[in-house]
Amino acid sequence: PPAPTPADPGWASISRGVLVCDECCSVHRSLGRHISIVKHLRHSAWPPTLLQMVHTLASNGANSIWEHSLLDPAQVQSGRRKANPQDKVHPIKSEFIRAKYQMLAFVHKLPCRDDDGVTAKDLSKQLHSSVRTGNLETCLRLLSLGAQANFFHPEKGTTPLHVAAKAGQTLQAELLVVYGADPGSPDVNGRTPIDYARQAGHHELAERLVECQYELTDRLAFYLCGRKPDHKNGHYIIPQMADRSRQKCMSQ
Ligand SMILES: [Zn+2]
Repeated sequence: PPAPTPADPGWASISRGVLVCDECCSVHRSLGRHISIVKHLRHSAWPPTLLQMVHTLASNGANSIWEHSLLDPAQVQSGRRKANPQDKVHPIKSEFIRAKYQMLAFVHKLPCRDDDGVTAKDLSKQLHSSVRTGNLETCLRLLSLGAQANFFHPEKGTTPLHVAAKAGQTLQAELLVVYGADPGSPDVNGRTPIDYARQAGHHELAERLVECQYELTDRLAFYLCGRKPDHKNGHYIIPQMADRSRQKCMSQ
């Protein structure tokens, strides 16, 4: 019989760089946002560079980061295999997805060191230098192994997002922000990744980082007021509220 065709991937995991179907997405959601952050490919609003980041990772084979050891024929002979499209969601697919993303059971681990703290610092330093390049998969792998997106490099005095911003690596910046990098974090001299992007002439990236910085408060503002603050024109609060507070001030 012909091989069953995989279901239509309607969803993307922006933190894992893979496209998944409705069924697998339900498992991703059940694991929580610290394991996988999913977003619908067609029914969600996508910042263009975030979508580009996900598609780049997916088409460059980010999935093989999560299934690394399964690509080894010796492992396949031992009976470990990928779930098939026709397998039941519970328990076969859900257990596979949990092993793959929660336990990182198939990720290529680095040789162990005695002190885990040193290893995490090494991974973070590797991330700090890798974000200068366009290689997203390397950075995703480092992040998944424990590199810190907000790592402050003690000798360089910057975080990985400063490096990506200066180099104009927009997709690396998107990935770092997904992993919690703060666009407003100061370097040793108090300059933020947004400042770095502007000074290097990467104005679109600078604007995007400003949007990222306010994403959480914007969501809250939208929830409360049904409007999104305009950050480009220097309003960090909703214009109507600014007017109201000005009126109040003048009347006092
Ligand atoms: Zn699926």
